[in-house]
Amino acid sequence: MEVAAAPLSLESQAGSVAEAPARDDGCAVAPAARPVLRERGQREVFCGLTGIIWLHRKIQDAFFIIVGSRTCAHLMQSAAGVMAFAEPRFATAIIEDRDLAGLADANDELDKVVDRLLARRPDVKAVFLVGSCPSEVIKLDLSRAAQRLSARHMPNVRVLAYSGSGIETTFTQGEDACLTALVRDMPVAPADAPPSLLVLGALPDVVEDQFKRTFDALGIGPVAFLPARRARDLPAVGPNTRLLLAQPFLADTVRALEDRGATRIDALFPFGAEGTSAWFEAAAAEFGIAPAHVETVLAPGRDRARRALEPARRQLEGKSIFFFPDSQLEPPLARFLSRELGMRPIEVGTPYLHGTHLARDLALLPAETRLSEGQDVERQLDRCRAAAPDLVVCGLGLANPLEAEGLTTKWAIELVFSPIHGFEQAADLAGLFARPLARRGLLKV
Ligand code: SF4
Repeated sequence: MEVAAAPLSLESQAGSVAEAPARDDGCAVAPAARPVLRERGQREVFCGLTGIIWLHRKIQDAFFIIVGSRTCAHLMQSAAGVMAFAEPRFATAIIEDRDLAGLADANDELDKVVDRLLARRPDVKAVFLVGSCPSEVIKLDLSRAAQRLSARHMPNVRVLAYSGSGIETTFTQGEDACLTALVRDMPVAPADAPPSLLVLGALPDVVEDQFKRTFDALGIGPVAFLPARRARDLPAVGPNTRLLLAQPFLADTVRALEDRGATRIDALFPFGAEGTSAWFEAAAAEFGIAPAHVETVLAPGRDRARRALEPARRQLEGKSIFFFPDSQLEPPLARFLSRELGMRPIEVGTPYLHGTHLARDLALLPAETRLSEGQDVERQLDRCRAAAPDLVVCGLGLANPLEAEGLTTKWAIELVFSPIHGFEQAADLAGLFARPLARRGLLKV
């Protein structure tokens, strides 16, 4: 087994094609009033390994070992190349042909890889073994390997495992799988513990700090974030834990926490002035905070965000937009773009539609917007060409061909890499959609 440190390449990248099975999670339905076009054809979307790119930045004492093939290493090299990092804390343990001789050898090799890593990097306090597609990796029981290695390296280092395989996961589902693995290690909160809030979804530190300040001002606490900056900072969870989702793609994490007795707060997602305001208001209502106080705390940020959105609104109002399925952020972003910037979402595609978690956002989408779940990429491309939208949001693999056809595109991956939540980031989020149109306008001159 050879370890390839994640290289920093600035190569351009094509999307990785992954076929993922339909989920049977009981919430892949939109509210009954809105029809959903469900497609189960070929997908053009990253696999869950790509989540490591933002997760390793967020969890600052964690190291991610992808147990995979050269294809996986190349994907990570290309995806990481979109952003430049000084010291990545991920690498690919490449399964070589000689590892196939016997699984016992592969386990021994994996143990040696982890031992060598920890001897070299004493700053690492959590190791994630991340599974991938190759059949020789699937045969390895990474959960058992994580247990074995944890027993060896605890209390200094915790070892966990999850799958980022393209057979099981698309793009942001890698984060869902990673957080679900962390939930298993969360301590049990006693039944009489005071109410606490757990915010779910990896957020840039600057956004997490802003949110913390607002929760403090509202009088909501204690508040914890999953994932936290340190892998060991796992809050206790129990019947008095309230969950507030910052990301819409965490169905398995929510289910694992609900199994531990936690309760989800129903809310809009915190994008734009309206979404952020409603998100905090929902949490405040759950914690019994007086509405007048909530208004006093939220009004300045909301007004600032509204004013900051004005220039983008002048640019984007009336423009049509078409979302290919990618990050699962598509429905709440379409809600933000239509309600706060006056855009017209023609089709909002998403890999999975978690209707229960998204109910409030879906209810605010224009009635004429088509919702689609899953993908049959050729058919969707035909619909997109026929609609001739002003802006297309899609994966990197589709962007260049569509640009060549004269369509203006936005890389969906940037929406995951950029700070876009909250009042202070509302204008930056709008700018991500306004810039490609401005660039296209300049090219036409
Ligand atoms: S996990 Fe699967 S889909 Fe992802 S890069 Fe590796 S082989 Fe490709």
